[in-house]
Amino acid sequence: MTTSAAARPPLALLRRARRTNRELAVVHPDARCELDFGSPLELLVATVLSAQTTDVRVNAVTPTLFARYPDAAAYAGADREELEEILRPTGFFRAKARSVVGLGQALVERYDGEVPRSLDALVRLPGVGRKTANVVLGDAFGVPGLTVDTHFGRLVRRLGWTTEEDPVRVEAAVADLVERREWTRLSHRLIFHGRRVCHARTPACGACPVARWCDSAGIGESDPDRAAALVRTSGPR
Ligand code: SF4
Repeated sequence: MTTSAAARPPLALLRRARRTNRELAVVHPDARCELDFGSPLELLVATVLSAQTTDVRVNAVTPTLFARYPDAAAYAGADREELEEILRPTGFFRAKARSVVGLGQALVERYDGEVPRSLDALVRLPGVGRKTANVVLGDAFGVPGLTVDTHFGRLVRRLGWTTEEDPVRVEAAVADLVERREWTRLSHRLIFHGRRVCHARTPACGACPVARWCDSAGIGESDPDRAAALVRTSGPR
C-alpha cells in the first residue's frame, strides 16, 4: 500500500518527485514545445491560438499568419475578416482574431511592440493567462516556468505530488518540489507523458516507466502487453 502525499515526509516526496523527473527525462528526451515559432511574439500568438485545439492545427496556420503579420503593429492594425479567415482552421476563430488584435494593440501601446519578459507584465496582456505566460517565459526567454495545463495537473495529482485542483496552487506545490532550473523541461515531460502514456481515461500503467514512484499505479491498464498497446509514440498533436 502506498503512503498518501499528505502523510509522507516532505523530504521523501521531494526526492521522489525529483527522481521521477529524472526518469521522465530519460523516457521523453524529445519533450519540447510543439508549437512552431521563431520569436517571442510568434510563440505568444501561437500559444493563444492553441486554446481548444491541437498544436498541429496551430502549426498549419502559423506560417501564413506570421508572414502576413510580422510584428505587433501588424496585428494591431489587422483587417478582422482577413485575420479570421486565416485562423478559421483553429476553431473559435472570431474570438481568437479579437484576442490577437487586442494583444497587438496592447503590445504597441504598452511595450513599444515588444513582448515583455516578466510574468506580471505578460498576464496583464489581454487573452494571456498564467499558463500562456509561463510557456513564453520558458520557451522564448529561457526563464524557468511551470506550465500547468490539463495533462500537467492530472499527472502531478496521480503521481501524488499534490491534491490541489486549482492550477495556481498546483504550480506552487510543484515549484516547492522540483529544482527551478528544471521547471520548463519538467512541464514538457509531464505533458508528453500525459499525451503518450498516462492518458486521461485509460492510463497505460503496465507500460509506465515511472510506475514505481506513482501513487496511482494500477488505476489504468496493468497488463504489460495491453498497456504497451495503449502507448502513443507519435509526434505533436
Ligand atoms: S503509473 Fe499509471 S497513473 Fe501513474 S503515471 Fe504511470 S500511467 Fe499514470
